[in-house]
Amino acid sequence: MTKSIPVRKNDYIDVRFEDLTHDGAGVAKVVGFPIFVQEALPEESGKIKIIKTQKNYAIGKLVEITEKSPYRVEIPAGESHKYGGCQLEHMSYEGQLKYKENQVKQVLTRIGKLEDVVVHPVLGMEEPWHYRNKAQVPVGEKDGKLIAGFFKPRSHEIVDTNESLIQLPEVNEAINIVKDICSRLGIEAYNEQTHKGVLRHIMARYGKQTGELMVVLITRTLELPHKTKIIEEIIARLPMVKSIVHNVNSMRTNVIMGPQTTVVWGNEFVYDYIGDVKFAISAMSFYQVNPDQTKVLYEKALEYTGLTGGETVIDAYCGIGTISLFLAQKAGKVFGVEVVPQAIEDAKRNAELNGITNAEFEAGEAEVVIPKWYKEGNRADVLVVDPPRKGCDEALLQTIIDMKPTKVVYVSCNPGTLARDLRILEDGGYKTVEVQPVDMFPQTTHVEAIAKIILKEGN
Ligand code: SAH
Repeated sequence: MTKSIPVRKNDYIDVRFEDLTHDGAGVAKVVGFPIFVQEALPEESGKIKIIKTQKNYAIGKLVEITEKSPYRVEIPAGESHKYGGCQLEHMSYEGQLKYKENQVKQVLTRIGKLEDVVVHPVLGMEEPWHYRNKAQVPVGEKDGKLIAGFFKPRSHEIVDTNESLIQLPEVNEAINIVKDICSRLGIEAYNEQTHKGVLRHIMARYGKQTGELMVVLITRTLELPHKTKIIEEIIARLPMVKSIVHNVNSMRTNVIMGPQTTVVWGNEFVYDYIGDVKFAISAMSFYQVNPDQTKVLYEKALEYTGLTGGETVIDAYCGIGTISLFLAQKAGKVFGVEVVPQAIEDAKRNAELNGITNAEFEAGEAEVVIPKWYKEGNRADVLVVDPPRKGCDEALLQTIIDMKPTKVVYVSCNPGTLARDLRILEDGGYKTVEVQPVDMFPQTTHVEAIAKIILKEGN
């Protein structure tokens, strides 16, 4: 029997918002039928206009708030930074953390059918602003000057942004100064429509613990016009710069970086520390964007592994070896796997940089390399996974179930796939004991969580 849809397009109705979707829209229900409304917050009442109906849900627009959510706050500096990623800027930080905790709890129950897992309150930041150590902004032109900032959602219109509230001040400053230097030198912005022009993106990356800055200029053209002058001015105006890189991307594509990267001044890397471990980060490396919370996350991962010194650990999805090297300090031996060969090169270099000799790395897909290791007779006491949003491949989960490490630590940036994978492990003889969400991305809807999973007795 199909349920009838209780609202029609263009209806005006009064509703009460109870929840928030994973992308930050308020959820109201009319006789059990969900309506999603951007800008609305839980524990809020308002008048909405229905703008679209589907079989299972409707979309509404907020017309008027009649009772404000206790979580509603004035947006900072009176100016919206939504386009810059601050989707939850209208919600208090306390509210954001509560909503992220609820989201993890809900998916573990709904998707994972895990009823008795302890989900701890989210570990948040004391100062939940200005945390990102990296920005890559598209460049455009307006009134004869260069602009750079963020794309408006579902469009390719660039909003010129001088201050992003979630980027470190050093990163904002670097982007603004490089934009100004290039603008004054008359460098043309790249135009997506015509595929003409020069400067596509400016990227800045900052090692918060070392104070080292990298600037990357991404052009369509092989040449970087006024190269010498640009370098001179960057050095003069950004004294913390340690590396200036030119990347060429001549393709018609949304991908930011192209295949050709040249260091035009200074070092190939900037350095940063997480705890006591030092990392060399190149222009192309993946490196966590919130360094303070990364330390919190990795310390929790270390705690959940319960390492005592002699264990063998596998770190699947290891990137440039960040978690592997963090754990190597407390383990017997660590094996890292990662699909990007360049990242594996970085991981090996980072091991060397820290004098860590008990970590080995192999390039390949976790779901291929780890089953191969298992067939060769290798075993791990502890397995750590930190997969991309789509979660772990089933072949990897099956190998974990066969290999039977006594502990699995799952670091996840997507609670939905985490819950799905925890269910598979649970059915294979594991038990999820506790889950700790960590807020890596304040003001955004992103939720990161880490799960401690143990092999059940008798397995
Ligand atoms: N643990 C690292 C990286 C996590 S991001 C850190 O904290 O910095 C996830 C990583 O998984 C990325 O580096 C990505 O390249 C890698 N990856 C994606 N699919 C993979 C697969 N099938 N096998 C191994 N690595 C994969």
